[in-house]
Amino acid sequence: MSNLDIRPLDQWWFGEGDLRLISGPCSAESEDQLMRTATELRDSGRVHLLRAGIWKPRTRPGAFQGVGEPGLAWLSRVREELGMPVTTEVANAAHVELCLKYGVDVLWIGARTTVNPFSVQEIADALRGVDIPVMIKNPLNPDLQLWMGAVERIREAGIDKIIAIHRGFSYYGKGLYRNKPMWEMPIALKSQFPELPVFCDPSHITGKRELLFQVAQKALDLGMEGLMLESHITPDQAWSDAAQQVTPSALISLLDKLQVRTGSTGDVMLLNKLAALRADIDKIDEEIVHLIAQRMKVAEGIGEYKRDHNMTIFQLDRYNEIMATRSALAAQLGLSEEFVRIFLEQLHKESIRSQTRVMKQVPGETND
Ligand code: PEP
Ligand code: MN
Repeated sequence: MSNLDIRPLDQWWFGEGDLRLISGPCSAESEDQLMRTATELRDSGRVHLLRAGIWKPRTRPGAFQGVGEPGLAWLSRVREELGMPVTTEVANAAHVELCLKYGVDVLWIGARTTVNPFSVQEIADALRGVDIPVMIKNPLNPDLQLWMGAVERIREAGIDKIIAIHRGFSYYGKGLYRNKPMWEMPIALKSQFPELPVFCDPSHITGKRELLFQVAQKALDLGMEGLMLESHITPDQAWSDAAQQVTPSALISLLDKLQVRTGSTGDVMLLNKLAALRADIDKIDEEIVHLIAQRMKVAEGIGEYKRDHNMTIFQLDRYNEIMATRSALAAQLGLSEEFVRIFLEQLHKESIRSQTRVMKQVPGETND
């Protein structure tokens, strides 16, 4: 644990209300799209800071890379005409210079930049002597040291208004989320830097609007101190991240459903041991479900073998052996033998069911 001497949010944050909220489109696409989105968000009275990406870090070339400098003039219009502070992503010193020139109120460092200490240092050097808040998204990979290092580099440049943003972590393969939440990571960051505010970005964690609510609620339950949620006037037509964006009115309905925990500011996240333990349980349960899926796959393979060799599905000796060895292991680990027996019986029953399905298949063909 170390003391970074970070300025508390209540000394500089922009808005009132029990939920600190940053919203706006993934990308600024046109002056009209940005102004219409920002106007609705401002009129809702719920959004404190307007976000819009001007330079977009796209995975493949050819995708929309952001509108660049002209978008900064549109952001200035949002500030001046709507009276909303604005924020955008910076990835290098040139971006920082331009944002300062156009009076952008808050900068954020994206996940693809936080991974690179050279880039973070370049941004930090460009910020020396400037008083501007900086938000630092977690790196793409779950490396706590990298995230901490980025916070330290920005702090060492003299910036003391810093927020960390949890936006999930990339992983190989397909899953429910676009980026795995790995809640233990923001909790670990908070335990290292207790005075550092941590916000959550459910849009980039989920990648789909249907899951935004549950992730946003969980973030608040864990004591996170604000949210960043993408919103677009016509989300389905968005030039980037269409599936995860919502209209301003859908955003407001989502906010109305959220339960904001009173006292969920500051170090609740750290104090909330229960929440940390629940995050561990979530992870373990997820592993258990993955293992069950893996076990079923193997069982199906056995089913095919039995079918091709004309063997019966249920083999009493094997069943007895499974029960005896696992019960002995359970006893050794201090688990209830009865509980483990019931659990295994259910698993075995499910395997038999799937093998019966395999039996009915003609080799080389599928049932459907
Ligand atoms: C974004 O906020 O639009 C963005 C690109 O985020 P991240 O760096 O979290 O992917
Ligand atoms: Mn986005």
